[in-house]
Amino acid sequence: MNPRPAPFLDRREDSPVLAPFDHQPRTRLVFGPGTVERAGELARQIGLRKVLLVTDAGVAAAGHAERVGRCLRAARVKTIIFDKVRENPAVRDVADCLAAARAAGIDGFVGLGGGSSLDTAKGCNFLLTNGGRMRDYWGVGKATRPMLPLMAIPTTAGTGSECQSFALIADETTHQKMACGDPKAAARIAILDPLLTLSQPPRVTACAGLDALSHALETAVTKPRNPISLGYSREAFRLCWSNLPRVLRRPEDVDARAGMSLGAALAGLAIENSMLGAAHAAANPLTAHFNIVHGQAIGLMLPHVLRFNGRDPAASGLYASLDSSSAAPLADKLESLLDLAGMPRSLSQCGVKHSSIPVLAREAAQQWTASFNPRPVTAADFARLYEAAWE
Ligand SMILES: [Zn+2]
Repeated sequence: MNPRPAPFLDRREDSPVLAPFDHQPRTRLVFGPGTVERAGELARQIGLRKVLLVTDAGVAAAGHAERVGRCLRAARVKTIIFDKVRENPAVRDVADCLAAARAAGIDGFVGLGGGSSLDTAKGCNFLLTNGGRMRDYWGVGKATRPMLPLMAIPTTAGTGSECQSFALIADETTHQKMACGDPKAAARIAILDPLLTLSQPPRVTACAGLDALSHALETAVTKPRNPISLGYSREAFRLCWSNLPRVLRRPEDVDARAGMSLGAALAGLAIENSMLGAAHAAANPLTAHFNIVHGQAIGLMLPHVLRFNGRDPAASGLYASLDSSSAAPLADKLESLLDLAGMPRSLSQCGVKHSSIPVLAREAAQQWTASFNPRPVTAADFARLYEAAWE
């Protein structure tokens, strides 16, 4: 395979030279060790006086909620802590958060934690300011009224939700993950303090880090990619590819943690501009049916998706431009990284029933993200990808 030297000049039938784009940066990024101490000052700058701090019990137990609350109160920002966020938040979780927000009479949100906390805060913001049900905002740009300012403070390096205008909220009755997006839902400020990510348990570091890496790889090749998203994807890949092995080996390495914090955020910006692909489409049904953690489900499927997409010449050239190796060697290296992270490598190891492959494949093909994959991917293709990941 011939690596293409200039992937910005990626010549495809539907995109002759440079893909057009409309890019509006929405989130101010404040990056660096210790920057969480600026939470109060920054909240004041965007007019916050009384906030709901949305977080989960684990992050609260690590002392982060109390510390951020102290920073906010020191700047005379009244702070009510809601620490009942659950992983993969559903409609019911947003309703609980909404009740707390209503009771408190707030003028803004601080989301503190992983993607689940940030998504719960965003979901709650939709309902508090625009009314109705979560389902009403499924899609893009459905909120007609202004929303409250959100400040995002991630404590993991993974989802990149701090740089996105989407809240992913599950419908517990249909198992669907609703992507509710609106430019107004994006955080006004994201504080990227790598020191906060030191408290991630090793498994969270691994799962979140693989998720961030997958965002860089998927966004680099999706159909809506453009020169801006590709810039984010490349730098996100460079940062995550070099720093993820380092944080897995030495969790206390602050430089490597900083690289992952920034890499995950830049990958989030890439998603905001170019969406995701088949690895996410294949992972979501695994999480819905077998409760496999997102990052782990991604890790299981991504090498196979790389090999599948590598048969597309443009995608192959883009992978080569990231790592100077084509899709197949890149997939092999990724599998070594999964071993280093202690991730299971087969679906059978994770309790997935072989007989469920047709149902999983059908659901994967219906995922929104499947439509952005560089190669068309049918239910039959997904069945083959699951088969490949089986042993
Ligand atoms: Zn993801």
